[in-house]
Amino acid sequence: MKVGFIGLGIMGKPMAKNLLKAGYEVVAYDPFAKANLDDVVAAGAIRGESNAGVASQVDVVITMVPNSPHVKEAIFGEKGIAEGAKPGLDIIDMSSIAPLASKEIAEECAKRGMRMMDAPVSGGEPKAIDGTLSIMCGGDPAMFEQYKEMLGVMGASVVHCGDVNGAGNTTKLANQVIVAVNIAACAEAFELAQMAGVDPEKVFEAIRGGLAGSTVMNAKVPMMLSRNFNPGFRIDLHIKDLNNALETGHGVGTPMILTSAVQEMMQWLHNNGSGSDDHSGILKYYEKLTGVELGNL
Ligand code: NAD
Repeated sequence: MKVGFIGLGIMGKPMAKNLLKAGYEVVAYDPFAKANLDDVVAAGAIRGESNAGVASQVDVVITMVPNSPHVKEAIFGEKGIAEGAKPGLDIIDMSSIAPLASKEIAEECAKRGMRMMDAPVSGGEPKAIDGTLSIMCGGDPAMFEQYKEMLGVMGASVVHCGDVNGAGNTTKLANQVIVAVNIAACAEAFELAQMAGVDPEKVFEAIRGGLAGSTVMNAKVPMMLSRNFNPGFRIDLHIKDLNNALETGHGVGTPMILTSAVQEMMQWLHNNGSGSDDHSGILKYYEKLTGVELGNL
């Protein structure tokens, strides 16, 4: 199968490479990430010249861009996918965007004779590289069945979350709320240990296998302990997800008490020049409040 891949950032680049490794023909394009495009072409992809140019060569296009406006631009903008699409083109949007936007984009695609499925992912760059992402899909079940095997090349789990477009993105928002609150809880708890005079390294060793242990703790606490805040997942992208979660929550009447608290922490970090840090950088918010850096005692 010949697959278009648009958006070759932190996540898209390794995902496109995994499709190539599995034997798919890939036509790749990113208007800004030239070095990543070169890298994917060196791995065997055909170089696309525009989003429309990619769409004209394939039956299915994957998009992996930051947020709803970028997905709209990639599909309906100048030299966009819709401009180059063959009749019956399928689009799988793997970006994390607002569920309502996903539904609206799918409806607009349908008017133009294209099917669209939302399939956002969780797992971050390491799992994108390993091909072990968690992929959560929303939309036409027949389309899901058609592409489940291909998505399985990029993910360890591929789940159809609902027939409605946006169901995958609603699932992703639930995921992002849990990750954000978990990171903030880790930052708060490890600052507590530090200030109370117990070595945070020892605390991590002691509790990681117990009930408090989590994938988030295992991935993010070592970054806090080594004060390595290279992304990973940028605070600015998590602000986007929490904004989408708050908007969705307010739309359906869900109280979003913890989400709004962590959103304010991240917004402070953004305003203080840390928006491009990994989200484990929430620690810096606590350090600013306490004046105490995490480290060996
Ligand atoms: P990124 O910023 O590294 O990459 C996004 C890429 O999209 C960029 O290279 C950019 O040039 C490209 N792009 C923007 N507008 C475009 C357009 N109109 N047409 C074509 N390409 C365009 O972001 P990322 O970290 O790879 O994240 C991508 C998506 O995956 C986001 O929605 C993010 O929330 C989600 N996500 C990221 C992670 C992570 O750990 N980084 C984990 C899970 C999900």
